[in-house]
Amino acid sequence: MHDEEVMQSVQDKPSRRGVVGLLAAGAASVAGWVFGGTVARRVPTSRGGAAGTALPVVPGNRLVAMQQELHQALAKPLSKRRWVMVVDTRACIGCQACVIACRAENVTGPAGSYRRVPEAPAGRFPNLTNVFMPTNCVQCDDPPCQRAVPAGMITKRPDGIVEFDYTQLKGRYAEAAAKACPYRAVHIDDGKFFTDGTPAVQAYERRSFVEYQNVMNRNAGGTPVGAARKCHFCLHRVEGGVLPACVTSCISNAMYFGDLADPASTVSELLRTQRSIRIHEEAGIEPRVYYVEDGLQGVPGYACATCH
Ligand code: SF4
Ligand code: SF4
Repeated sequence: MHDEEVMQSVQDKPSRRGVVGLLAAGAASVAGWVFGGTVARRVPTSRGGAAGTALPVVPGNRLVAMQQELHQALAKPLSKRRWVMVVDTRACIGCQACVIACRAENVTGPAGSYRRVPEAPAGRFPNLTNVFMPTNCVQCDDPPCQRAVPAGMITKRPDGIVEFDYTQLKGRYAEAAAKACPYRAVHIDDGKFFTDGTPAVQAYERRSFVEYQNVMNRNAGGTPVGAARKCHFCLHRVEGGVLPACVTSCISNAMYFGDLADPASTVSELLRTQRSIRIHEEAGIEPRVYYVEDGLQGVPGYACATCH
């Protein structure tokens, strides 16, 4: 099964588990928001070459460890950093906390989300379970979206992040980029708000935010309305020394981010010790999101590779 088929099996309607998950997600995303937002604005950005203030050592805390590794990576030149994301598929419980945190961080409207958590049934009755596969732009090293539009509209940064130029990537170019992405990771911002049609569009939808180091606001058709949008590994947070929102908001230790060029980083360690896959790896586009699938718990013989 390819990821498109997995997507079709997503149960979008809120289930009992989903509602409980959303409640947990609210608390988790707030925690992630506070943690990330507070630290982000205190740590110098890597543009000045600063590595940031030292963090306390908290044994066994994956977020603090990855945060320290992030600061070490930011002390290196841009081209020496190799950002990747690792998803521990065995740990994801499908709570959608990361999706909500991403929406809050990047102020995405109803037209699309940078992040989804598709759900696929696995096993045989009565030993059934669900497997969750969080997805976002995988920052391809040879991006099909980039090949689909004129040069300069989509840039592959030296650290691996694929950057969209919102001033150019509109209209037919936005459509071409979205169509070319094999991960269906791109959507076009139609300018609508979730609270359209209510007495007032809520402030959280009208607030300014930062993407690609520029301040934006979707009010009255402002940037990035009309443009193609997608995940950027929370570039603005990472450059400020803070982990991506989906990583800090994950309640079950399923999300990892870091520098694969550092052999001692958490992501390097995970990929060295656990079996993993990359979706559409066979296409040669070198995706930078890895899925750990080393013996999914409770599903003997089942692995992500079964579906992809
Ligand atoms: S996942 Fe899609 S949007 Fe992201 S770089 Fe690859 S082709 Fe482009
Ligand atoms: S890295 Fe940031 S933009 Fe990308 S899915 Fe996670 S929260 Fe969303």
